[in-house]
Amino acid sequence: MRAARFDLESGKFGLHEIEVPAPGPGQVLVKVAAAGVCLSDVHIIDGSLSGFRTLNGQTVITLGHEVSGTIAEVGADVPDIWQPGARVVLAAGDRCGTCPNCLFHTGFCLLPPARGVSYDGGWADYVVTSHRSVVPLPENVPFEQGSIIPDAVSTPYAALLHKGELKVGQAVGLWGIGGLGVHAVRIARLAGAAPIIAFDPLPVARERALAAGADHAFDPAEPDLTAKVRAVTGGMGLDLAVDLVGHPAARAAADDLLAPHGKLVLVGMTYAPLHLEQAARFNAAQHQVRGAWGSEPQDLHTLVRLVSTGRLDLSGSVTEVLPLDEAPEAVHRLANKIGNPIRIVLKP
Ligand SMILES: [Zn+2]
Ligand SMILES: [Zn+2]
Repeated sequence: MRAARFDLESGKFGLHEIEVPAPGPGQVLVKVAAAGVCLSDVHIIDGSLSGFRTLNGQTVITLGHEVSGTIAEVGADVPDIWQPGARVVLAAGDRCGTCPNCLFHTGFCLLPPARGVSYDGGWADYVVTSHRSVVPLPENVPFEQGSIIPDAVSTPYAALLHKGELKVGQAVGLWGIGGLGVHAVRIARLAGAAPIIAFDPLPVARERALAAGADHAFDPAEPDLTAKVRAVTGGMGLDLAVDLVGHPAARAAADDLLAPHGKLVLVGMTYAPLHLEQAARFNAAQHQVRGAWGSEPQDLHTLVRLVSTGRLDLSGSVTEVLPLDEAPEAVHRLANKIGNPIRIVLKP
């Protein structure tokens, strides 16, 4: 089968011909129908995200953590509910099997290894996965939309609802209206945030935010930004700020604009140190900074239901569908924002 793979030692990325993997005990083989291309894939390939280790020590890894498809084969010890032909979405991570929660069945995995990073992902004709990380995909949700739910939709959902503990009527600021940010706007809208304020230097991204339901969209470099945000939040500032970019300036601005008891949630990844410019105010105003990583297992079920019932519209989220063979071109287009993609999806 074909697989778009990254060599951790040489840094090379390209199409390979490899054996179709066999599902082991507790695993299913999924025929991939669609797989999203994420900015973190771009950052793995360009070397700006590095230092991760693979589960079995492999040095060449198939990328792709946003995957949908149909079950092709079922391994031993998999519950009967999973049969060949079932339409599914794959969670962006499996269980580690060794953390206390995995060992004692006491909750979701504390250290979930990431698909397409720690083990082979779905930029391929087939992918194997634990049956615990597959979620049914109803007929009325296209594979292309389903594939991007893990990560592009579920990560902002978890950042807003779990880490951010968003409540109806709270003022929310969102930095970076790309593939995750546009879904953050839609979810904030669905969850009753008011007002929703988007920040992005690109005019096209600000227009996208307003079209998705943001009340205001600002250029982060605009003069008097603090005064403008205060003006549209009744003088209080933001109850919740989410940095979807991983840019130090976005973090500093978010900290500056928080309301008393406000939270800053960090989604975008960066190796740059985190500075608290106004450390004393941080204490006095009882601000919080929280790290966010992926989502929780039940979130995919929730989001699939919201899309299937028409509450969450992803019809405009897939900008372009390219054949799997053009994975390098898809990465190039996302890296250079060619066509201002929300999500590019690969189709084997
Ligand atoms: Zn991603
Ligand atoms: Zn675990």
